[in-house]
Amino acid sequence: MPTTQKKILVVGGGIGGLATALACGARGLPVQLIEKKPEFSEVGAGVQLSPNVVRLLEGWGLASALDAVASFPPLLQVRSARSGAVLGQLAFGARAVQRYGARYATVTRADLHALLLSAVQAQGSTQLLLDNALHQVSQDANAVTVTSADGHQRRANVAIGADGLWSNVREFVRANAQPRFSGHLAYRAMVPQAALTQALRSEVITAWLGPRFHAVQYPVHGGEWLNVAVIVHGTAPDDVHHWDHEANGIDLGVHLEGTASGLQDLVGAIKAWRLWPLNTLPHLRGAKEMAFGRIALMGDAAHPMLPYLAQGAGMAIEDAAALADALSNPALGDVAALERYAQSRWRRNARVQARARRNGQVFHATGLQRWGRDTAMKLLGQRLLDLPWLYEGASRG
Ligand SMILES: Cc1cc2nc3c(=O)[nH]c(=O)nc-3n(C[C@H](O)[C@H](O)[C@H](O)COP(=O)(O)OP(=O)(O)OC[C@H]3O[C@@H](n4cnc5c(N)ncnc54)[C@H](O)[C@@H]3O)c2cc1C
Repeated sequence: MPTTQKKILVVGGGIGGLATALACGARGLPVQLIEKKPEFSEVGAGVQLSPNVVRLLEGWGLASALDAVASFPPLLQVRSARSGAVLGQLAFGARAVQRYGARYATVTRADLHALLLSAVQAQGSTQLLLDNALHQVSQDANAVTVTSADGHQRRANVAIGADGLWSNVREFVRANAQPRFSGHLAYRAMVPQAALTQALRSEVITAWLGPRFHAVQYPVHGGEWLNVAVIVHGTAPDDVHHWDHEANGIDLGVHLEGTASGLQDLVGAIKAWRLWPLNTLPHLRGAKEMAFGRIALMGDAAHPMLPYLAQGAGMAIEDAAALADALSNPALGDVAALERYAQSRWRRNARVQARARRNGQVFHATGLQRWGRDTAMKLLGQRLLDLPWLYEGASRG
């Protein structure tokens, strides 16, 4: 297809797909986006957006939209789940702006998705096609052909698989890579801060490190709500594809026995939980696992992240920026642009995947390892928690 009319087809309208449409639109590249759901919707867990990601969103003109819905916690504090003692902390706020050029934000997935969707709609260069599930992708020397479940065929210069953990596009790039249950279950909840006692309300990010579990809490939606996740070891429900279960009536007490009263009181005050079994793929081993010819993967379709570095949405947004950079480069043909994208992204994504996995081991350490972790955190807290290679952005990672 002639590159003067470059057509980009994005499969999936989650955070990654919408960010790709927005970034491409900002470079003057029109996008067709197919989404299998009949309407856009996101479930309401929280996500953290570190300065490397906030900087990109602000660069796309989303600073005031983010101000309207996000929280900007001034501090990350790490506590022992057993004793409640603060083991280490890292200041965000003005320090993050001074050091990394942007703030550290927390937001609900629904708010983040809605602000990306409004920006894409306001930009007007993306055709959003709902109720449109991908069935098949094929490619020849000139174009890629995307067939929807209803048999409709669309031709484009490139197809971008932004279709999440259970990606269909992945089999055309990285066949045989099947998600596997990690052995960890995330229980998530959001509670209005007004419904909590004063002692349980919080404006900071707190990570409680236990033996064999950890919990994270932070404010979202302008501080009105508290997002809480408790991640434990366990067995996946039979239907792992249905990854977002109601888990009301769940007794998390068995995992929290002997833990600090501040954590037990918070968890006890929340009645409505959702269960999210955590699945992984083998870590990326090369650029070929992110792009093949005219087809590329991004976000969770390429590299689902365990949430222990809080970077799943972040790396999807960084991927989106890199895709737009490569596809708008007039010196690159379609295939070369996707190769450039994959080369620029796979190492950083693999590094974040590996670090997230390691954090999971450290956060859940038992016995002597737990003692070593707590001692190291007390001595070196800020140095261990600050991550310049990550927060400075993709050019460093
Ligand atoms: C407990 C937990 C906490 C987390 N915390 C954080 C955090 O703090 N910070 C962070 O950055 N990330 C976090 N994440 C991860 C983050 O939510 C995801 O990484 C991110 O949303 C991925 O976006 P995506 O667009 O790649 O995929 P998705 O959001 O899964 O979107 C995929 C889209 O593709 C559509 N689709 C699927 N198949 C098809 C098809 N065949 N045809 C058409 N459309 C299709 C889907 O309907 C969906 O809309 C967390 C995850 C978990 C589990």
